[in-house]
Amino acid sequence: MIKENVQKILQEIPEDVLLVAAVKSRSTYEIKEVVDAGVKIIGENYLQETEKLFPCIERIVKWHYIGSIQKNKIKKIVKIFDMIETVDSVDVLREIDKRAKNAGKIMPVLIEVNSGKEEQKSGVYPEQVKQLLDAAAPFKNVLIQGLMTMGPFMADPEKLRPYFKLTKEIFDRLKTRETENVQMKYLSMGMSDSYKIAIQERANFVRIGKLIFWPRHYR
Ligand SMILES: *Cc1c(COP(=O)(O)O)cnc(C)c1O
Repeated sequence: MIKENVQKILQEIPEDVLLVAAVKSRSTYEIKEVVDAGVKIIGENYLQETEKLFPCIERIVKWHYIGSIQKNKIKKIVKIFDMIETVDSVDVLREIDKRAKNAGKIMPVLIEVNSGKEEQKSGVYPEQVKQLLDAAAPFKNVLIQGLMTMGPFMADPEKLRPYFKLTKEIFDRLKTRETENVQMKYLSMGMSDSYKIAIQERANFVRIGKLIFWPRHYR
């Protein structure tokens, strides 16, 4: 079933959109099936889980960190992951820069935008993204490659469209002020329920979990 689900999704999404398989809490066996089915990017929320998984899969795929960031885990996150999608503060950027420098690596990241301005959620408020990019100028071992957003929970995914639009607007505005370590290339929006709308609004990463693993959710 996993294989069929992945293949359906891969056929459905445009060529320039990349599927990030959100695999949190799945078994190694299931995740290997996802990789065998042709997924090129694994999105993980948990470092510990990734450390268990990594030896089985290694660098056949790219690894994206999509979980919330604890500062004391950044050293290991920087080592394993190819991209961190959930950066939302100068402190975190500074720590990533430091750890990446020690590891001799330039760390690709996305800035997470709290597009619904929800107090309890992570991410930078829309009007503060530019400020964060300005503050990132000295961090030469960080490469900011775009934006990520979740948007508020909505039973009707169509209601997420304004939040995707807003994030795309910020993305486009920032494109005009690219610097050496800011290159707006990726827009990560949309999950199982909302990826079609996100793609219409020009996402080029979609992060999909339950649609891959949960057959009865496939429409
Ligand atoms: C779990 C998760 C997803 C995938 O959500 P589904 O509804 O399972 O498709 C996407 N992004 C993040 C950050 C997640 O934690």
